[in-house]
Amino acid sequence: MAKNELLAVEKEVSVCTKCGLCRGRTKAVPGEGPVDASMVLVGEAPGRMEDKTGRPFVGPAGRMLDKALSEAGLSRKEVFITSVVKCRPPENREPEAVEITACSRYLERQVDSIGPRVVVLLGRVARAAVTGRRDRIQRGQAGSYRGAYLLTTYHPAVALHGRPQWFEAISQDLREAASLGAGSD
Ligand code: URA
Ligand code: SF4
Repeated sequence: MAKNELLAVEKEVSVCTKCGLCRGRTKAVPGEGPVDASMVLVGEAPGRMEDKTGRPFVGPAGRMLDKALSEAGLSRKEVFITSVVKCRPPENREPEAVEITACSRYLERQVDSIGPRVVVLLGRVARAAVTGRRDRIQRGQAGSYRGAYLLTTYHPAVALHGRPQWFEAISQDLREAASLGAGSD
């Protein structure tokens, strides 16, 4: 069952030692949300608060994400939120290619169990990890991933430092993602 597979991933991630990031973590952060979510959001990596609590996007970037979701008419409770690596990199450095590769099977299994209509990549690192694209374009549709529409927007952390237009862009993209998800079956 999809729910069992999602819980299996959660369990495996909590004790995973497939890459070096396991050494620095307090808690792994598998992600959270309903198994029947129509949207999956993919961030970069857990930060300090996430590492402490084991929950995704609970720090300052998370507050921004919550605001953008609500602006887009969505609630955090109805989406599944995770990231491309599940353990916090030291000093919040970017995850390395080997770490992303080591962790990628978990994301695939999560998306396969949930079967969302749309997957939203939050920022350049998630976009590069999932699509292999290292371009500067960080918004818009980007093909498909495991049967779901794929869409990129900015990472909510960029909206933290007084850039209201970036916040607006993220909300707009989330709204577009929700409408892509609707009416496709
Ligand atoms: N940034 C991310 O990409 N993920 C989190 O969970 C928090 C901050
Ligand atoms: Fe395992 Fe992913 Fe954590 Fe690396 S980042 S230890 S692959 S769960």
